[in-house]
Amino acid sequence: AKVWKTVKPFEGTPKITDFELVEEKLADTLKPDEILIEAVFFTVDPYIRTLNLPTGLPAEQVGRIMESKARDFPKGALVLAHVGWRSHAILNVKETMNLGFKPTIVPKVPGLSPSLWLGVIGMPGVTAYLAFLERCAPKSGDVVIISAASGAVGSMVGQLARAKGCKVIGSAGSKEKCDWLLHLGFSYVFNYKTTSVEEALTQAAPEGVDIYYDNVGGEFTDAVMSHLKPNARVLICGQIADYNRTRDGVPNPFGRILFAEAQVRGFFIFNHLDEFPRVRKEIISLVQQKKLQPRETITNGFENMAQAFIDLFKGANIGKSIIKV
Ligand code: NDP
Repeated sequence: AKVWKTVKPFEGTPKITDFELVEEKLADTLKPDEILIEAVFFTVDPYIRTLNLPTGLPAEQVGRIMESKARDFPKGALVLAHVGWRSHAILNVKETMNLGFKPTIVPKVPGLSPSLWLGVIGMPGVTAYLAFLERCAPKSGDVVIISAASGAVGSMVGQLARAKGCKVIGSAGSKEKCDWLLHLGFSYVFNYKTTSVEEALTQAAPEGVDIYYDNVGGEFTDAVMSHLKPNARVLICGQIADYNRTRDGVPNPFGRILFAEAQVRGFFIFNHLDEFPRVRKEIISLVQQKKLQPRETITNGFENMAQAFIDLFKGANIGKSIIKV
């Protein structure tokens, strides 16, 4: 088998000298439940940069089964396998592979290339479908902005958004990519290398953005934030602008939001003044039932008010700081 390995951990953007192509000998015979596969298609994905698996560089492939001792995995069939950057591999079909994947037969669907099982019908496509359609609550008329919009995930999100009747804004790094996005039916596209997010959104979405589907992070995200409409949804899907950056041990907070699938919501009380009567009634009841304990730090004298205010930032109060005149 031919196997790509890394000679040292990546520093910054991966370089060709970080890799070496080596030969590995495979076992001569298969054990029960094992298959021998020969790679037909591979996928390379940005996340590979961020993972340092003991089993080597991860990558999914469509492989052809050359020999089989496993039921339901016949010789000649194509199989999705997550066995890394290797031309040939022996794997046990009952065992879980890298990242929790199980070997799966690629069905023959007339007119569809088996390579699509690595893209639009594969991990990026399922990501776009779940993360956009089932997490962003898109509605007809929503303004959606997608970073890295011409890539595997972004181009699919854009097409799904358009089918939902959204106004779709996409950014990409070349004219050719932008032209393709227009051809797909994006409402507005811009090359982020020549047009700033600020300029683009001021022009294309003066009313603001309902959904930001983020594949990039970094300054792009910083710029989109000030264009969010009330109740906007932000889906942190990727942070590619960050993958090659050395952060000196300071983690990217958006990375944690992504992995934890955390929901981050803003709240601004002055948008909810009409809720006060209802909520006050509920709170009075909780206080009367002793289910809430109010505590106050009382400063006596109007002349001490400025000091009480300053003291807030020093932590002088317990509970609510009140001035008794
Ligand atoms: P793409 O097909 O979009 O390929 C990467 C693209 O990103 C490049 O073509 C480039 O396009 C753009 N890019 C690269 N570097 C930068 C940069 N510094 N700033 C801005 N754009 C950059 O990849 P995928 O569609 O597979 O993935 C898109 C994102 O989604 C990635 O961040 C990936 O890690 C993430 N992802 C997350 C998943 C999840 O489970 N959360 C699952 C799958 C993907 P351009 O010319 O436009 O710059």
